[in-house]
Amino acid sequence: MSGSPNLQLSGSATSHLSTVLDYAYLKPTVEEGLCTRRLGDTRDALLFIENLNDYLWVNSVQSKPTIFAMDVKNFFPSVNLTLALPAISKFLAKRGISMPEIEVVLDGLKLVRNGNFFKWKETFFNQISGCALGNPDTCSYCDLAMAHLLDRMVPNFEAALAIELDPFFKVYRDDGLGFTLADPAIIVDVLNFFNNYDRSIQWTIPQCNLCLMPEVLCQHYDHLEFLDCSVTWKQIRKGGFVDIKFGN
Ligand SMILES: [Zn+2]
Repeated sequence: MSGSPNLQLSGSATSHLSTVLDYAYLKPTVEEGLCTRRLGDTRDALLFIENLNDYLWVNSVQSKPTIFAMDVKNFFPSVNLTLALPAISKFLAKRGISMPEIEVVLDGLKLVRNGNFFKWKETFFNQISGCALGNPDTCSYCDLAMAHLLDRMVPNFEAALAIELDPFFKVYRDDGLGFTLADPAIIVDVLNFFNNYDRSIQWTIPQCNLCLMPEVLCQHYDHLEFLDCSVTWKQIRKGGFVDIKFGN
């Protein structure tokens, strides 16, 4: 024992439980594809852009669509039990898992979330909000919470503003990529609506360093950065298409 600062995760009591719950329940649920707005990997992003271009082609869209990105501030620590547990319950029920079994899973997840202890200078602290990064189930847990939030929030937004975001708004974890034929200014309404829908999940959109406007509304950007991709609009003689390049 030394007197030096000591910060360590010591979730050993629940980390095995977290592993089992993720392996047996959460991960298979994410992988089953029930989360229709989830981009799981690069291939999903490519398919998404391909579907978007098919849509532009089939509908003879001539005008430049608005392509936007948005992401959540401090995503993992923001995902609370009240957001995640109803989401997980719903997705497990969709897979035909019985209610008593779901109750056991939810109880287990509560134990994992309440077991986020860490030690600082010989004192133990318990992280009570959101998720700790160290638990094996954290990514699946947060992905399911996000999917359920979007399932409720996007249709509500569309009904409130009579504007379609679907089917072209998807997220990779907490990074959203969207496309709309509506006026670009719609992005401000989307942001406000999302941020008021669930106050624990707060979204931001990239701002231009030069004019401090949202990038999507300013003249300084001809492309959008999403994860490690660059997304651009290419004008061709009859219409145009969305191009995606990987690697910056
Ligand atoms: Zn600008």
